Amino acid sequence: MDFTWIEEPKPELKSPKRSLLFRLEPIGIGTIYVESLCSYLCRLAEEHGLTLPLLYRTLFDQGRPVTFSQFNACSNKTERYVELLEKATYHTNLRFMTFLPWKHLVSSYKLGSVRKWCPYCLQEWANTGQTIYEPLLWFVAALQTCPVHHTNLVNSCPNCSYTQTDFMNSTSYRVGHCAKCGAWLGQETMNLEKELSDPYAAWTEETICSMITALTETWITELKPETFMRFFTYVRSKLSTESSLYRTISTRMCVARRIELDTLIQMTYETRLPFIQSIRIFEMNRRELPIKGIRPPRNHLDSHTLERYKEALSIVLKNPNPPSVVELARELNTSCNVLKAHFPKEYNELSRMRAQKKANTLAQIRKRALSLIVELRPEELSVKRVAQELGNYSWSSFKRHYPDLVELIKQRRQEYEQEFQLKMYKEVYDISIYLLERGMYPSQVRLQNLISSQVNVRQHLYRKAVEKAIKDFRERN
Ligand SMILES: [Zn+2]
Ligand SMILES: [Zn+2]
Repeated sequence: MDFTWIEEPKPELKSPKRSLLFRLEPIGIGTIYVESLCSYLCRLAEEHGLTLPLLYRTLFDQGRPVTFSQFNACSNKTERYVELLEKATYHTNLRFMTFLPWKHLVSSYKLGSVRKWCPYCLQEWANTGQTIYEPLLWFVAALQTCPVHHTNLVNSCPNCSYTQTDFMNSTSYRVGHCAKCGAWLGQETMNLEKELSDPYAAWTEETICSMITALTETWITELKPETFMRFFTYVRSKLSTESSLYRTISTRMCVARRIELDTLIQMTYETRLPFIQSIRIFEMNRRELPIKGIRPPRNHLDSHTLERYKEALSIVLKNPNPPSVVELARELNTSCNVLKAHFPKEYNELSRMRAQKKANTLAQIRKRALSLIVELRPEELSVKRVAQELGNYSWSSFKRHYPDLVELIKQRRQEYEQEFQLKMYKEVYDISIYLLERGMYPSQVRLQNLISSQVNVRQHLYRKAVEKAIKDFRERN
């Protein structure tokens, strides 16, 4: 026997690159309740058994205390911290735990300065065994209320009244706990109000929440400064030139080119323009703005454009199935008012045709609905069912268009139910008599076994039937 040793090829050992720190998962990225970078750093320190200042010095190579804003907002410092922290953890999405995606629009100044929290949220998370952390929105200075509980956010410790303004102030800062005395900051929920009564506070909540949810969306980082400028110009045109807000916006537009968050909220509130939706519209329509007031006034229309509108109108009027005035205006990149002002006759004719078409459609649907009400078995008849059978018809719009049919359905349904109950009453009565005649008491179990339909014999009506049967039976015998 000849043994030869075969040298097995040694697999090339390549250990993966290690991150400096444990790769702790950030919480809630892309949601309203995304974790703040401060909170993430605290949890990292805890995870490694380090004090916060020690971890900070290790990572960032400097010992000075920093503010919450520098970490959670959108300054160059924030950018630097995110970069270093991403390097240390091998995460690539830590900027979404700060306001960095909004850095071209929002000024870091006054974005946040004091640590605040909702004691009820903290307690609820603790009670349900969730990880305790401090979301980004609690650090936004402009936000004073919890979007879940609609109560004021708290900034002083219930135990020692300490208000924390510096992030690195203490060695004992733990998420959900006071940095000075270490007390737990959660509190059991009391009777809380459901809605915010102050409309400005509600608007603030909504605006900030929508901005935070949008942090991970790519279109934000692609927004051009011109878009903001056009948005500001538009908002300013809606304000009185005397107002202080007008002056603030003007200054920001020419000097800083970035705006404080509370000014942004104030200007969208004054003009009732929801920020995210509006800025999206301004972004998507680079040349032509669909919002009223921005369009060039109609005396600017040249004869060529007017000719084009006229031709388009004459074409659609020949169409047996014409588009609506709004659709046509959009198609032509103009407004209904422009069409109405220049071509009142054609405009009215088109509106009339559309109204006629709508009436025809409604009449057709009514006809089908009526036949459905007759065809459907009464036990399956309901407004919802009829709307469903009509296809893509919402229950509420059916109710709005055909209140009389809704009444009819209700009536049929009621008749059917009365009839059914009467029938069942008789049946329960008959079964009871049948049982009594055989020397058995009409108990619920016996009745339930013998009855032909799935009804609950414990109902008042059926108990009455049993009582009546017993009475009649006794009288007879
Ligand atoms: Zn809360
Ligand atoms: Zn305390």
